[in-house]
Amino acid sequence: MYAFDYQKVSSVADAAAALAKNPDAKLLAGGQTLIASMKLRLANPPQLLDLGNVPELRGIKVDAGSVTIGAMMRHGEVAASSEVKRAIPALAALAAGIGDRMVRNMGTIGGSIANNDPAADYPAGVVGLNATVVTNKRKIAADDFFKQLFETALAPGEIITAVSFPVPKRAAYMKFKNPASRYAIVGVFVADTAGGPRVAVTGAGPGVFRVPEMEKALGAKFAPESVAAIKVSDQGLNADIHASAEYRAHLVTVMAKRAVAAALG
Ligand SMILES: Cc1cc2nc3c(=O)[nH]c(=O)nc-3n(C[C@H](O)[C@H](O)[C@H](O)COP(=O)(O)OP(=O)(O)OC[C@H]3O[C@@H](n4cnc5c(N)ncnc54)[C@H](O)[C@@H]3O)c2cc1C
Repeated sequence: MYAFDYQKVSSVADAAAALAKNPDAKLLAGGQTLIASMKLRLANPPQLLDLGNVPELRGIKVDAGSVTIGAMMRHGEVAASSEVKRAIPALAALAAGIGDRMVRNMGTIGGSIANNDPAADYPAGVVGLNATVVTNKRKIAADDFFKQLFETALAPGEIITAVSFPVPKRAAYMKFKNPASRYAIVGVFVADTAGGPRVAVTGAGPGVFRVPEMEKALGAKFAPESVAAIKVSDQGLNADIHASAEYRAHLVTVMAKRAVAAALG
């Protein structure tokens, strides 16, 4: 490991002040990506600001129309939350399917979306449900938050404090997972929202993306057969030892169809 300074912060304001003083410092959530990156010598921050003791980043609030999850909520906590299970069962199921028990006990929603791994599950849920990412500076719509590979709209020094999910009429997430890591080879989140159906895909491309053709078809009829014949192009999709771009494109249709069926119960 490198030599670095470790500081436990106790508020978002403390973390923001420390980042302002030392812009190369890194926020530490569950360390599931950051510590691994440091061990692999891919990151070398001079200071880690541990968010593990910041009460304002914790908690789940449910009101009539939305579920707001604090940035430091672990995947296992979201998966086990009776409130999330009741309001948006698809979101609890998504969290329950992340990684293994250890990853779910340490990994956080804030860390996951800040990292924006192209195969991560939460980006599909955040975009599929048209969520709002709340930071210490502003609110960012899901469609504007995720940029390119491992890139988000967060400005230097900006801290995610929570993610607010509107409760959909119905939703489901289906993923074809890598059997070793459980990351999505392809994952599709389908939600029937107040603004119409949304289809968000993770794992297939360099970042999460929506499929407008499927959304339009589901708007006409919310049924698996509406998406069954809609194909996405394999141009620009990921290709690796796990799956070709062509296979990933095929999986988008298959997972979308299964997600619509699951959303209908
Ligand atoms: C073996 C393994 C299997 C996994 N499988 C899956 C899977 O199936 N699906 C899946 O989706 N993910 C998977 N993950 C990823 C995991 O779920 C974590 O969400 C992810 O690694 C981020 O970890 P973390 O929350 O501990 O954040 P950290 O590693 O602590 O931080 C990640 C990045 O986010 C920044 N950050 C953290 N919190 C904030 C904040 N509040 N505001 C701004 N920036 C912040 C950090 O500075 C850092 O740059 C897996 C990880 C491992 C190690």
